[in-house]
Amino acid sequence: MISVIIPIYNEEENLTTLITQLNGVLKDIGISHEIIAVDDGSNDGSLNILKNLVKKNKLLKIVTFKINQGQTSAIMAGIENSNGNIIIPIDGDLQNDPNDIKKLIEKLNKGYDVVSGWRKNRKDSFFSRTLVSMIANWLISKVSGVKLHDYGCTLKAYKKDILKNIKLYGEMHRFIPIYARWQGGKVTEIEVNHYPRLNGKSKYGLSRIFKVILDIFVVTFLNKYFTKPIYIFGGFGLFLLLLCFFSIICMLVLKFYYNLSMIQTPLPMVIVMTFVSGILSILMGLLAEILVRTYYESQNKPSYLISQLINFNKKK
Ligand code: UDP
Ligand code: MG
Repeated sequence: MISVIIPIYNEEENLTTLITQLNGVLKDIGISHEIIAVDDGSNDGSLNILKNLVKKNKLLKIVTFKINQGQTSAIMAGIENSNGNIIIPIDGDLQNDPNDIKKLIEKLNKGYDVVSGWRKNRKDSFFSRTLVSMIANWLISKVSGVKLHDYGCTLKAYKKDILKNIKLYGEMHRFIPIYARWQGGKVTEIEVNHYPRLNGKSKYGLSRIFKVILDIFVVTFLNKYFTKPIYIFGGFGLFLLLLCFFSIICMLVLKFYYNLSMIQTPLPMVIVMTFVSGILSILMGLLAEILVRTYYESQNKPSYLISQLINFNKKK
């Protein structure tokens, strides 16, 4: 079963066309399906239009938010309330092409867990969008080790199983392929169509760039250090203490061999700064270690993922 998920924030002019197109495409594909429209606290007529559409569409479902909580939350809510084993998020503004769903599913069925859409011919303004996202995509693929051209494209196809353990925050729906790969999923991409936005306004300004950059830090940290934060905090702390030690040596050499008074150099300052920050970093690392343990142990979460248990013959 296919679950198509649409995050919607003030898209009243686009919904009727989108749902009609989706119905046509999904009928054509011939697999059982549902469309989950998530109204992310729209304050235009979007919800009313959806409610009217539901009357005629048995396979359309609506999830509503009272307040605007962002595209990532909307997509998460859709996924968590879906029944399909194939999940397809798609934008509600007609910038993605529903006809691409067929290609995505064909590729998924060749044994992939994630097929990501690549808007090769992106129809957004060059400087504020396309260029910025090219740089972001390059950065993300460098730090994550998952080579994709277009993380930001909403239109992707996922096997439900790979999403089971993934929780998303902030702007992180773009990182699902990365989490999937870290859990051993097979990830690939295909080119998809992209259209200019004809109705309504884009919901994002430049502030998204900062959010995505900060999220890249989070993802890198989670990837490498989430279970061992002491390695990054403590590593930094040890580096500073080493710097402190060298500064002391330099200061003593200058004093006793070159007869240069300690306070004629910035070294005493450097020594105090590096010492205090070094110790603090290590202490913060220890705190973070406690946090991580609380996270896993309070929820009885294992800090590893088992993929299969073979021949365990559990007795009931
Ligand atoms: N969206 C949402 N909640 C938000 C912002 C956006 O559900 O807070 C939806 C929006 O209605 C659209 C999709 O997410 O269906 C993508 O948004 P938009 O087209 O504004 O982003 P862009 O294409 O400009 O990156
Ligand atoms: Mg858009």
